[in-house]
This record gives sequence, structure tokens and C-alpha cells, in this order.
Amino acid sequence: MQRHLPRVGIGWDVHRLVAGRPLMLAGVQVPCDRGLLGHSDGDVILHAVIDAMLGAAGLNDIGQMFPDTDPAWQGADSRKLLRLALAAVQSAGWTPVQADTVVVVEKPKLAPHKDAMRASLAGLLGLPAGDVNIKAKTAEGFGEIGAGEAIACYAVAMLAPVQRMGTEQLV
Ligand code: MG
Repeated sequence: MQRHLPRVGIGWDVHRLVAGRPLMLAGVQVPCDRGLLGHSDGDVILHAVIDAMLGAAGLNDIGQMFPDTDPAWQGADSRKLLRLALAAVQSAGWTPVQADTVVVVEKPKLAPHKDAMRASLAGLLGLPAGDVNIKAKTAEGFGEIGAGEAIACYAVAMLAPVQRMGTEQLV
């Protein structure tokens, strides 16, 4: 099948904030008295980006790739999950060209950490920092996220078909 056009995917995730865990966001440890609860390190940004990439590539979702019943992923560094998901995306003939995210978080304020988070995410995706974006919004006090009990993230990712030599010319 010849594929010439880029594809987009959407991802979303939420994790509860609890005491006694490091707060990992986009692969960066953000100073906070609480962290995100999860089978892995709970990095809600990386999980949303993974799902966005898998969606664009037509590769199901993060829960199917890394089941939370599998002890292999207990406490996993989500940067490793992203690298594995990226490898699957590339094996399927796609490469990321852009990602955008919205983190919905009441506390802590992410402004002092956004540059580091952006650089981390870009590095993981093999992209220049200008091709990824991290936007932080509060929930204006609404609901559990607004009460600071959880952090959510929305993500979109765009993939381009990988150029190949030989019989299958794509772009
Ligand atoms: Mg998750």
C-alpha cells in the first residue's frame, strides 16, 4: 500500500496524585510533595503522546502494548515505554514530525519546568524542541483535577511516512 500523506493521532491520559512518589512529567522529575500513581511511573504526558503516536500509526493503544497486568511494566520508566512505542511506529513505516500537548494541572505550576520538559519530549521523539509543545492549563477548580487530586494530559502527534529506497516509494 502506498502512503503519501501524514497522519494525526490523539491521546489522553489521567493519573491520580498521591504522596510518596516522584512527579514525572515528560520524562522530567518536577519538584512536588506528591507524584502520579500508576503501574508505571505514571508520566501522564508521555502516556498521552504514546497513545497519540500509536493512534496515528493504527497500532491500537498503550494499554494493549504495555498491559498493567504485566509485571514487566511495574514501576517502568515511561521514557522506555515511549522508546518502545516509537520503535513500533517506525517499524510500521512512520516517523513523528510534530507533537502538541495540553497538561491539565492545578498544582504545581509547570512554567519553571516547561523548557526542560519540552526538551526531554523532543529528545525522546528525535525532534527539534520547536516541533513539540507543552501547554499547561488549570481546570479552574472544577472537579477532581481542579481540586488537585489528579493530572490529565491531551496530546496530538503527526506522523509522516518513512521514505524507503527500492520497490516501495512512499514520499
Ligand atoms: Mg497512563
